[in-house]
Amino acid sequence: VSSLLTRCRTFKVLVIGDSGVGKTCLTHRLCAGEFPRQVEATIGVDFRDRSLEIEGEKIKLQLWDTAGQERFRKSMVQHYYRNVHTVLFVFDVTCPVSFNGLTAWIEECRQNSLGHEIPRFLIGNKSDLRDPNRTDKQVSQERAMSFAKAHGMVFFETSAKSPPKKHTNRCQGDREVLYQQ
Ligand code: GDP
Ligand code: MG
Repeated sequence: VSSLLTRCRTFKVLVIGDSGVGKTCLTHRLCAGEFPRQVEATIGVDFRDRSLEIEGEKIKLQLWDTAGQERFRKSMVQHYYRNVHTVLFVFDVTCPVSFNGLTAWIEECRQNSLGHEIPRFLIGNKSDLRDPNRTDKQVSQERAMSFAKAHGMVFFETSAKSPPKKHTNRCQGDREVLYQQ
């Protein structure tokens, strides 16, 4: 019984989105607590673990940091979605092309999740690069929120780079809940 009580539950978290949106930096930040000094393009998939304790229960997140490039995906994609617990759809708030690219990622998820309802999150990364004078070149929070709502997702805006805010305890680090179902 005691081994059952101390058992650590593992959740598989799939991180997807266009190349360059910051998937590797985000997962590195989550698991190593820092923005990586140097980051190389992901080939196939990288795995990182993050241990948490929620209400006294030990939890392990196993993050699957995938490569955005089509050529790496074909043979791997079914493995990505097998037994997945949650999917993070990442875009870059300063790159509308990466936001438009989400539709294809959502379709990939739909095709490979075989009708399972997987909790999904929309992540607008690089919030530190938001420039109030260049709103035409950015994806607004309103747009991202309505997209999240339309697709039954929870939206967070993140920065893998900016230091965590000290005053927040409800949201860890630099994340803010902008839209929640
Ligand atoms: P991936 O292809 O989605 O894995 O993207 P990477 O994690 O490799 O990041 C691509 C580039 O964006 C790198 O040059 C990172 O330094 C940069 N980057 C990633 N996240 C952030 C962020 O939150 N803020 C800023 N300013 N740059 C970021
Ligand atoms: Mg990467």
